[in-house]
Amino acid sequence: MPYKNIKTGIRRRNILAWFLAIFLMLFYALLYWDKEIDEKIIPFLQVLFPGFRFSCEQFMAKLSQKVDFLSYPLRGKGADKWFFYGFVYTLLVVVMGLRFIRHYRHEKYQVYRTVSVMGVQLVLAFLVPSLLQKANVKEFYFSYFWPLKIEYFLPSALYELPRAFFYWGVFMSFIAVPVLTYFFGKRWYCSWVCGCGALANTAGDDFRHLSTKTEFSWKLEKITIYSILVIAIVMTAILFINHFRAIPDTFSEFAFALQRWYFFFIGAGFAGVVGTGFYPLAGTRVWCRFGCPLAAILGILQVTISRFRITTNHGLCIACGNCSTYCEMGIDVRAYAMRGEDIRRAACVGCGICQAVCPRGVLRLENRVLGLRQSK
Ligand code: SF4
Ligand code: SF4
Ligand code: SF4
Repeated sequence: MPYKNIKTGIRRRNILAWFLAIFLMLFYALLYWDKEIDEKIIPFLQVLFPGFRFSCEQFMAKLSQKVDFLSYPLRGKGADKWFFYGFVYTLLVVVMGLRFIRHYRHEKYQVYRTVSVMGVQLVLAFLVPSLLQKANVKEFYFSYFWPLKIEYFLPSALYELPRAFFYWGVFMSFIAVPVLTYFFGKRWYCSWVCGCGALANTAGDDFRHLSTKTEFSWKLEKITIYSILVIAIVMTAILFINHFRAIPDTFSEFAFALQRWYFFFIGAGFAGVVGTGFYPLAGTRVWCRFGCPLAAILGILQVTISRFRITTNHGLCIACGNCSTYCEMGIDVRAYAMRGEDIRRAACVGCGICQAVCPRGVLRLENRVLGLRQSK
């Protein structure tokens, strides 16, 4: 069947997978940098190809108009590129989430957590921010916190956001994150709430096996993810120092340049263009594994104070390798199962797919302090 051949090919990184990756990266580049491309790249192309006419900004504006029918009732105004993006993103999570649920309908854990991410995306990351705009309140995403949504704990948030929203972000980042991670591990957020994890586990499910499992990638992810966390913390501190100094000088120029650099390279380039563009080439969790600063914090908590672990019953393991193949975070689950060792890895997002694809019931997701077991 042609459709099946196309799908299998894309899942195996064939030429169509490369086209899909380029398409996704171009889309994200247009989304984030349409004005910059119009100013810096289009004139250059016009020198090379006289008569060439194209405006990325106008293209995105026209594309966005397609969802005006939804934007007017929800926001009281026409659609812009961010509303269009939010609509497409949410649609993908919901439609592909239903497909995912159908596939894993016999796994209660998979069904519940997928319903959760679909609901969070639809309500907290799409409807509520839209309705806030209709009420002339600054749009706010209640399901994202510092340092993933870094601007929610920067000095600018003090005057741009309603104070209650600012306190919500502070409460979630500094109290809810450690407490919930203590009880449930990283999964409470990465597999039940976060929109990035939602897209990875629904629209990206066909690509989860592409995550590299090499030891090199494990070492690399530890370097990159903690480096970005350090940069995020240092940048936040510098911006607050600058805010309270309130003196426009070289230091303040440096602070704002650092902020612009972070949003351009980390926020847009890494999290958006590479993070999603690489789905068909390197799996769905490139950003989550190698970049996300919140994942770094959750991971540290998971391996130090959290009660969450995956237990293994090595006597039952037949070394088939399904668990390792389908681990989106590149963890060699089989090696742990064969040693009979609990899995407590900072990278593990507790998606539970290793448990779901194990034919022998070797693996269990557990929160030991509560005595809870995630039944199959
Ligand atoms: S690793 Fe970061 S981006 Fe990925 S699901 Fe977790 S919090 Fe979200
Ligand atoms: S070890 Fe299992 S639960 Fe953890 S990320 Fe990999 S597949 Fe998901
Ligand atoms: S899927 Fe199950 S049986 Fe196969 S290697 Fe992993 S733990 Fe062992």
